[in-house]
Amino acid sequence: MARPGDRICPDCGSGRTELVQRGLAGLVNATDQYYRCHDCGRITYEILARTAREIRAGRIEPGRVIRAAGHPYTVRRVLKIGVNEYLVYLRPAEDPFPMSGPRSR
Ligand SMILES: [Zn+2]
Repeated sequence: MARPGDRICPDCGSGRTELVQRGLAGLVNATDQYYRCHDCGRITYEILARTAREIRAGRIEPGRVIRAAGHPYTVRRVLKIGVNEYLVYLRPAEDPFPMSGPRSR
């Protein structure tokens, strides 16, 4: 069973997930934070790093649903951390456009 604080895969419900934290030295994708499901392989983003232009162009703001790697997420919070850098905190969302299918990008 899942324990408090465990990250549950939104696709298959598995708790066997591995967190990749933002900012760890030596990782290629260290600007984003996500967890990977060991059962189905899905990657679920928790934090994305975005530039000011990407925030504007994507109209990223709290409450909106955006896509990351083909999956929908609700924006929980947008935090400015630098002159041109924002952190976007996400929560997995129900797909509002299920017709686009799991393979769409
Ligand atoms: Zn899974």
